[in-house]
Amino acid sequence: MEAEKRQPSFDDLDLVAEASQLLTVVDLDNVLHKVISLVSRAVGAQKTSLFLHDGSQIDWNHIFTMRELSPDQSIKVVSRVMEDGFVGWVVRNKKGDIIGDTEQDDRWIVFPDDPIKTRSAMCVPFLTDGNVIASATLIHESPYHFQPYHLRLVEIIANQTSIAIRNAQLFNHLREQRRQLRAVLQSMRDVLLVLDKDRKLVMTNDAALPLLGVSAQGEAVGLPIEHFMMVDDIFEPIVEMFKSGLSDTQRWSFDARSERRQTDYKVRISLWDADDELLGYVIVMHDTTQLHDLSRFKDEMLRVASHDLRSPLALVAGYADMASMDTPDKDAPIHDHINTIKQQVEHMSNLVDDILRVERIRTSPLELHERTDVSSLVKLVLVNLRPLAASKHITLDNQIELDGVPRIVADPVLIRQSMENLISNAVKYTEENGRVMVEAYYDDNRFYFVVEDSGMGIPEEHQPYVFESFYRVNSREHKNKVKGSGLGLSLVKNVIRRHNGEVWLKSDVGVGSRFGFWLPLPDTTPADTE
Ligand code: ADP
Repeated sequence: MEAEKRQPSFDDLDLVAEASQLLTVVDLDNVLHKVISLVSRAVGAQKTSLFLHDGSQIDWNHIFTMRELSPDQSIKVVSRVMEDGFVGWVVRNKKGDIIGDTEQDDRWIVFPDDPIKTRSAMCVPFLTDGNVIASATLIHESPYHFQPYHLRLVEIIANQTSIAIRNAQLFNHLREQRRQLRAVLQSMRDVLLVLDKDRKLVMTNDAALPLLGVSAQGEAVGLPIEHFMMVDDIFEPIVEMFKSGLSDTQRWSFDARSERRQTDYKVRISLWDADDELLGYVIVMHDTTQLHDLSRFKDEMLRVASHDLRSPLALVAGYADMASMDTPDKDAPIHDHINTIKQQVEHMSNLVDDILRVERIRTSPLELHERTDVSSLVKLVLVNLRPLAASKHITLDNQIELDGVPRIVADPVLIRQSMENLISNAVKYTEENGRVMVEAYYDDNRFYFVVEDSGMGIPEEHQPYVFESFYRVNSREHKNKVKGSGLGLSLVKNVIRRHNGEVWLKSDVGVGSRFGFWLPLPDTTPADTE
């Protein structure tokens, strides 16, 4: 039995020094094994158990019992000693203690199948910030083996190692989270690219590797996004988007196509920031090829069906006329029926004509004019649309700042039609005596055309779809009051896209809508004369 006031020996100091070195170990199991070995050696314990605690919970993944126990048994034993036994007492009181003779102390629970007959025990908590994060129980078969000196020594080792345990736990936790994140990212079918603020690749998932032309993430990390323009044409619009410097919006979303891979994508770029500091960008690309194929199929079907409908419609109209002529009695009720047939046939013919007209515009090559003056186009459009606005007593205001705007290469007829379409929609979907405002201006790179109205607005859930063919907002205000085919905006989008521009929309129900587009302006920096 050792003297109570024993002086520290060199061996003890060695153990304490060894304990402090554990800080460099990050593997949790390794740290815990070393702790068990240190405390056992320090006090000559025959067996040591160690549990990790998280508040009042036990970390079941990290329990080291004195003997081999099946998972079921260890849950029973550990729960019991936590509830009624010595460990529970130490954890609740947050201080270590010694049981000199287990037969005299009812905190010691005897399990009938214990291979060692324990006569003395010591249990020490490991504390960080006043919380018990672990507890070690040491035993010996002789009574009064453990002395206050031992308790002190193990407490010192516990102090030294609790930070190491905490660090290893945190590291373990981070590693686990990282593993989960990787698993989620790798199972994603969407392409994911994370860039730093200099637009260099930081991270990606497996789905992105073929697009980047590499077989492992490591080969691409660190390269700027511009580098990948050589690998796949999908990166051209993305780089273009960055160049346009739209960095004040939180999220950009656009459709793009890789001709090289014959694949359509919905591309979303979000800012990656923390505490108002820009850290980089997250790009997610969703493969929409099937959707686009379906849409192309739908267009083709419509085109064919419209062609085939034309002749029978003309035939029905002709027979309706003949039936009308064959019934000289103008008051006969049959004339009402015939008129209804004629009206409906006319409505259908208009629809078919619309479809075919749109189809023609979509598929015909652009008639590009080298030097289209957008300023005169805007003025012409305003003149053309003034009577339509006046017919509903709508004020048609404008704010045109186009002095000195460079001329652009464009199809003037289609651009004019697109402008007219936006204004006529604004008039159509605004009540009498409302207001429509047309703005046109430009900056270094782009010409902008915007139409704002004080009309009925578009509910948010419909906004993503109004540029699709045949889409009409399905609300009472829209349907009842205004006739239309749902083709105008899809045509505008198609025309503007073909000129490498973009359309957009902002709308609030009951307040009004703001539709706009931009077109790229030619690079006006003076050419190098060398
Ligand atoms: P159409 O006007 O022939 O129905 P469009 O393609 O031009 O077809 O427009 C699609 C739908 O978008 C319209 O049916 C309408 O519901 C909505 N819309 C378009 N412009 C406006 C606007 N300025 N204000 C409110 N709704 C609009």
